[in-house]
Order: sequence, then C-alpha cells, then structure tokens
Amino acid sequence: MNFDILIRDGMVFDGSGNTGKIADVGIGNGRIAAVGTPVDGSARKIIAAAGLAVAPGFIDIKTHSDFTLPINPKAESKVRQGVTTEIIGHCGFSVAPCLPGKVELLKDYLSPSAPWLPFRERSFAEYLDTFPATAVNAGMLVGHNTLRLMVMGMDNRAPAAHEMQQMIALLEEGLAAGALGMSSGLFTSPGSYAKRDEMVALCNVLKRHHAGYFTHIRDESNQVIEAVEEAIDIGASCGVHVEIVHFKCSGTDNWGKVATVMAMLEAARARGVDVDCDAYPYTAGSNPLKNILPQWVQAGGVEAMLGRLKLEDTRKRIRAEIAAHGLNNWGRIKNWDCIQISISPHTPQYSGRTIAQLAAERGKDPVDVMCDYLIEDQGATRVLVTSISEDDVREIVRCPSALVGSDGNCVASYGIVSQGLPHPRFYGTFPRIIGHYVHEEKLMPLETAIYKMTGGPAKALKLKDRGLLKEGYRADVTLFDPADFRDRATYDNPHQYPTGDRTTVIVNGKMVVENARHTDAIPGIVLRRAANGSVG
Ligand SMILES: [Zn+2]
Repeated sequence: MNFDILIRDGMVFDGSGNTGKIADVGIGNGRIAAVGTPVDGSARKIIAAAGLAVAPGFIDIKTHSDFTLPINPKAESKVRQGVTTEIIGHCGFSVAPCLPGKVELLKDYLSPSAPWLPFRERSFAEYLDTFPATAVNAGMLVGHNTLRLMVMGMDNRAPAAHEMQQMIALLEEGLAAGALGMSSGLFTSPGSYAKRDEMVALCNVLKRHHAGYFTHIRDESNQVIEAVEEAIDIGASCGVHVEIVHFKCSGTDNWGKVATVMAMLEAARARGVDVDCDAYPYTAGSNPLKNILPQWVQAGGVEAMLGRLKLEDTRKRIRAEIAAHGLNNWGRIKNWDCIQISISPHTPQYSGRTIAQLAAERGKDPVDVMCDYLIEDQGATRVLVTSISEDDVREIVRCPSALVGSDGNCVASYGIVSQGLPHPRFYGTFPRIIGHYVHEEKLMPLETAIYKMTGGPAKALKLKDRGLLKEGYRADVTLFDPADFRDRATYDNPHQYPTGDRTTVIVNGKMVVENARHTDAIPGIVLRRAANGSVG
C-alpha cells in the first residue's frame, strides 16, 4: 500500500488505556490507514519512531484558546505539547453570540481574559463559519455568562419569561450551528446570578440536542462540596453529560477534600449520572483579579466597579469579608505572596510581582493595593493564585477517570501572545503529567496518562473518529520520547516549550510539528456536533 506517512517501530498506545505495543502506523488521506507489525507498503514520508511513544493526538478538553487562536493560529504552546484538538468557550465565557450594540459590553467583560482579541457582532453560526484555519482542531461551546450578558446585562435577578426565551433561542441557534454544548461560569457574575431553574431550563435544551454541559462550578473553595452536588444534580435531573472543569479544592481550609469529591463522582456514575471532571497539574490557578474580590464589587459592570473601588467604605467591606472567609472562590491563602500579577494590559511593567511585594513597595495595605491596581489597569488584570495542595493535585492526577485539561490558552514565545507571565500550564500541562508524574514520580502507567488525554476526553465529548489510534480514525497523532518530554515552563519564566527534540505532531494527516519544530501547517478544522450528538 502507498501511504502519505509511515511511522515505523514506535511504541503504539491506542488511547483506550491498553499498554503500548511496538507497531507501524500508516497514514493516508488524513486518516489512520493501517496499524500492524509490520505494515507493508511505501510512503512519501517515513518516520523512524524506535524509542518513541506513538499516541493519538492529545485532546485539550478545557481551554480558553478562543481568545488567542485567531492571533496565533499556529497554536504554538499547544501543539508543542502534543495537543491536536482544543475545546474552547469554557467557564461561561464565549466570544459569540454578540448581539447588535453589545460589542463594547462583551469586550469590557472579557478584557482580563481576552485583552488582545478584536470583538465584533455575530451569531454563533457566523463565528463557526468564519473561524480561521489553525494548527489544531477546535470545538466550541456557547457560554452561559455571554448569553446572560447579551440578554440581561449584569443584572442580579432572575430572568423574565421573555428573557429566558431569548437565552434559550440563542443557545438553540448555537447548537444548531454545531456547538458541542454550553459552558457555565457559576463562580462569577452574571452567571453566578443564575439559580437552579434557569440552569435546568438551559440544560433541558442541551439534552434535546444531545449536547454536553461543561461547568466551572459555583464554588471551588469553601462550598466546593455543595457546588459539586449542584453539578451532579443537574446531570441527574436533565440527563446531560456534565463535565466539571478544572476541578480543584482551593483554599487551605479545603485541602484534602479531593478524595471526598472523587468518591461522590464515582457514586453518581454508579447510579447512572453521566459526570466527568478534568484538571491541570499545578497548585496555582489563574483568574481575573476582579474575581477574587467579593462578587458584589462587580455589580453593574466594569465602570461601576472602578468607581466603587475608589471608596474607603468599599475597601473596608472587602477587607472584612476576606478576613472572614478568604478570597472569593479561592478561599484562604497562606500569604499575599500567593497572588502574583500575571497579565496586566495597561500596566505590563508589574507582571510577575506579588501583592505582598507591591504592598511593601508602596507602603500600603494589600487590599488597597488590589483596588488601586484594578483602577490603574481598568479592571483588566489577571493574576495567579497559589491555593491548591500538591497532595490534592496528585490525588486527581492518579485517578484514571479524571481527565487532563490545561485551562490554558495557546500562546507563543513571540508576538502579542508572548506578553506578560501567563500560567505555566499554557505550555506545560501535558508534558508535566507525562514527564513529572508518570516518568519521575511513577504515579500511574503511561497508558493511563495517555487515556486521560485521548480516549477519555473523546468519549466525554462524543468525538466520532478521534481520540483512538485505530484504522479509519482521523490521523491526529503525537510522537514523543517518554524519557524526554518534560515541562520547562515555570511561574517566573513561563514562555518555554517542553523538552524533547523528537516530538512530532500530526493533525488530520499533516505534519504540524516535526522534531520539535513547527512546520507552519494549519490543517485543523472546526468540529461540529451532529443532530445525534456525535462530533466530527
Ligand atoms: Zn473556569
């Protein structure tokens, strides 16, 4: 047989959790054409893969690359980790639909997440149809916070009947266009204003379309157990697949609760609830600075918040609430060095400084520093918050059913997206699991880690022909040296690609990374959900 690419003598992992076997893989017309020992035939390109693991391309089930893929279509920090598919539009934040006259509102709302992205009015269908060609495949979610923002602004109230109908109609439109499902960000306004009946109404729409529900749960710190219960309840009541994204137990008071939650998910699955979770392997999270302050600070939108933050009374109240409960959604931190400025579009010179450092330099109280900083940076600041226990991270990493998601954007060591100090997970999530937790720490076998990055997410997402290395499947393939695939990105120096001179990544049968160098190819496609729920 004549192949486009023939991979010889690699250790082939099929992505189902099976152990690796030495085999050849033939690729033709963008698909896996043959897997065998040996595969007979010739090819235009032969890859000598002895010593390399050959796996399905990694599926990053949880990302915000919708904010950067149009700026860096090469998806550099992702493909260099072996990622071939990204799911975008998470945490309630999607850049579409954007209704007439609402561009500035959406742009301001998303400024700490998407500081460089141009926004424009468009339907979800237009968004999918005009998404640029990129190096990775992309599947899109409709964001609940975006729906609410479009229909009700930042109002803290239940939707009127006609508003509920409008949100449902916008969701239906997105799903009809091929969105994989809906994301929620119940931790922050305006998504946090939604009560159970609103979420049930929207998830019933998802159920009708065989689409999924992806949730940044209502609280990841002091009320994390109740928030997981809420997610499981939605799954049980609406019969939808629920993905609890970037799962963590944040805040020192909540360390150790991961085991309880893993047991809750297992018990829910045992009674037929379709629920999954994913996580990134780091003890710090990343968030807009405004979101770690009490939620009422943001009422009325960015302008109202900035005005409010100037008032001494506001600061007094913030100080008291943090003293009583810790940070909003993040709980108690050990000290103010646990908050580091990450990306700060209007005051970039402070990236990398901690709130403790700025407080010392300015001779001010940390709460005043945060309020002043938000005013200087027009509310757009992103921070890293170190608030998770390493033992809890290991507990999740080791759990075979907990999927791997970076919660990171594709960025690069060049261009606009090289600005600031993003979370190292943007560059290191997948190699960190394999290099650190599998190779060095031996927390689990390599085939289990690969399953959590390929077959596992493909099943959760209902991908019809990706996630397994199997004849007839799309040729998304990642080759790496298991002994030389380590993350190098750190909190202080994040813009670093992983180690591994032989890392090679194929997307839809085209070489995107060859021996750790980007080929400039952008063969990724937009994934769309069909009426029966399958995604391709
Ligand atoms: Zn989130």
